[in-house]
Amino acid sequence: MYQEPKIDKVAKNLRAVLNGLSGTYLSYLRRPVGGPVPVLDDAQSLEELKLLSAVAQRSIVELQFEKPLNDDSSADDLKQSLGLLVKEIRDVTTGHGQLPGRQAHAAVLVWLDTVGTDVRDAYEDLRWRLAAQLVEVDAEIEATKPKPPAPKVPRTNQQVLTDQFRLVLGRAAPGGTLPTVRAYLVIGGVMYRGDNDGTTLAAPTLKLIKELVSRQEDWTITGCAEVHALDAYVRTRNFTTADQVRNAFTRPPGNITDAVIGAMDAVGRTGRYWVKRVPCDNCVQWLAQLRITADTAGAQH
Ligand SMILES: [Zn+2]
Repeated sequence: MYQEPKIDKVAKNLRAVLNGLSGTYLSYLRRPVGGPVPVLDDAQSLEELKLLSAVAQRSIVELQFEKPLNDDSSADDLKQSLGLLVKEIRDVTTGHGQLPGRQAHAAVLVWLDTVGTDVRDAYEDLRWRLAAQLVEVDAEIEATKPKPPAPKVPRTNQQVLTDQFRLVLGRAAPGGTLPTVRAYLVIGGVMYRGDNDGTTLAAPTLKLIKELVSRQEDWTITGCAEVHALDAYVRTRNFTTADQVRNAFTRPPGNITDAVIGAMDAVGRTGRYWVKRVPCDNCVQWLAQLRITADTAGAQH
């Protein structure tokens, strides 16, 4: 016959005790144990005794139904110990033997340290078990609460470029018969667009590209969309020399990392559309030296 593991049964019983305790008592059980003994006034002392007694009485209720609250002593033994504790507290806080709060509290502690050591040990063990179970209950409740939205993780440069390509690839491109290329350079999550429109480049851009590219015989620098994308970045940063641009990409610390670039051609005879392309051989040279990664996955050559 299947037998429920004993520890689960005890945990269930401990939870039954917790279920019968209101917030004040649960706060008492959540308190850290140890540390300096707090100095209590009369009212606080009575409150402490009230909390202690209530937890003991609540436990007795479960024990009366033969529900063990630990593995290593009988329900009867624990019930008897807790009963003695409840009685001792009642004797010093009510009726003829009633004492002022602080004296009542001190009297109970003395009693626990002398005649009631078994009671004290039993209670402390029970309190520890209840507190440990409460930690689990609290964690389970916390787990069911809706989570605040995760902090927004900035998109990587590649993600920015991929998202942009998803928006435009296969979509309408400018018509006409002139070769039309557009490039996106992404640095620090920001996209810089360049078109092969032959417009003038900023002086630092032009000078740097000439320095970095060795084969320029039949190359029109202003005809490359990639160069114009770099130029857009150069203009945004207001660089005035080629070295400033080069250093921004290559000189640590603080240099640009993970910069990516992607380009696309307008293709089709009528109703042209965008198709991803690879950079030309000249651009490959300067891109490599500035450590800009060309995204050519699935690109046309
Ligand atoms: Zn090129």
